[in-house]
Amino acid sequence: MAIALVTGASRGIGRATAKQLAQEGYTVAVNYQRNGSAAAAVVEAISAQGGKAFAVQADISDERQVMAMFATLDQQGEPLTALVNNAGILFEQCTIENLTAERINQVLTTNVTGYFLCCREAVKRMSHKHGGAGGAIVNVSSAASRLGAPGEYVDYAASKGAVDSLTIGLSMEVAAQGIRVNGVRPGLIYTEIHASGGEPGRVDRVKSALPMQRGGQPEEVAQAIVWLLSEKASYVTGGFLDLAGGK
Ligand code: NAP
Repeated sequence: MAIALVTGASRGIGRATAKQLAQEGYTVAVNYQRNGSAAAAVVEAISAQGGKAFAVQADISDERQVMAMFATLDQQGEPLTALVNNAGILFEQCTIENLTAERINQVLTTNVTGYFLCCREAVKRMSHKHGGAGGAIVNVSSAASRLGAPGEYVDYAASKGAVDSLTIGLSMEVAAQGIRVNGVRPGLIYTEIHASGGEPGRVDRVKSALPMQRGGQPEEVAQAIVWLLSEKASYVTGGFLDLAGGK
């Protein structure tokens, strides 16, 4: 079969996506940065259901670690045909007047540079131009790229704006090389990322402002990612699916 790499798959949307991709028959590379035991638990859960997965540690903002992660994939004896750029960070809610250069750079290095680096290495392996079998990439953006996240994390929103531009540009660069590139834009999803923003219960506080009046589950985002990677989406590239309850 083939390998699907999911960055930030030790929890949240990445974990849900890894599990669903394993059910589709992929060998899933479960990337994580810090939480090795959580990543091992994802691998175990996939194996228990008869799927194939392995954990691979790398900080996606570090070019050497990204190169080492892809070198590990190269040794598996199966081609990489799917990449889910999912690992992302945000920090405590604050206004722009309280942002520091250090924080802005940290957000951009992970959420933007990290996505670029993984796209670059995936394209080198998937592209018909380099003898690859083709493939598909899904970049996990955010509704924040459209809404701006005022008073919370405009730095994060701007990083997701860059992810949208990367998705559009790369999709056109590699469309004739057998690679499709799409994005998903989740809204309010029940994961631990909101604790990083200083408000673990954020989804429940703001969900009534959504047309659907509820938060989303990671599995609902994963379903869209799996579809975009699949042959059922064979004529879709440079597209975005909003998974945001109507806002
Ligand atoms: P989460 O629960 O906080 O999980 C983040 C994951 O990313 C963890 O597996 C973490 O691994 C990993 N990670 C963080 N920094 C990394 C790095 N430098 N290198 C490699 N892995 C790293 O987040 P989530 O809510 O599932 O979010 C996943 C994606 O969806 C993000 O891109 C986020 O911006 C986007 N999104 C989420 C929501 C939402 O409401 N939840 C809404 C819109 C968009 P370790 O734990 O091992 O460090």
